[in-house]
Amino acid sequence: MKKLKVGWFSFSCCEDSTIIFTEILNDYYRIWKEKVEFVSVGVLQKRSKIKDLDVAFVEGAITSEKQEKQLLNIRAESKKLVAIGACACVGMPSTQRNLFDEATKKEIENILIRFKYAEKVKKLSEVVTVDDQVPGCPMDENAFLQIINKYLNEFNIS
Ligand code: SF4
Repeated sequence: MKKLKVGWFSFSCCEDSTIIFTEILNDYYRIWKEKVEFVSVGVLQKRSKIKDLDVAFVEGAITSEKQEKQLLNIRAESKKLVAIGACACVGMPSTQRNLFDEATKKEIENILIRFKYAEKVKKLSEVVTVDDQVPGCPMDENAFLQIINKYLNEFNIS
């Protein structure tokens, strides 16, 4: 039986939308078992592959060159990419260090160097094309359910 192949990825953020996602699974896992294949969901699997996904759900903002490359790879392997939560959709609150004054930027300079962080934090759409967004901080549960149902329909999975 054909299933919707999904991935769930977290970049720089507090991962609260991941917690909401796992709570949603408490209610929906049995229903989705026949419809959804969790191909690459780090929170559920020890090892996962990023290949040939129908939908990638991506939480968090992009804070380094390494993360940019990882996101580009996810985009290349996914037919659809959905930004999850405010940090992924609009950048804030994860991008707040972009607005620091010069003195505060100087103060955090060594941290950026140590962890190879980029000078600027980016929302997902500054790096890749985003097909859909689930807003909220953390994500709006109902909006997420609407999006997953939309893609189940779009990929003809009943
Ligand atoms: S949008 Fe809110 S809940 Fe989601 S990662 Fe950012 S700060 Fe955390």
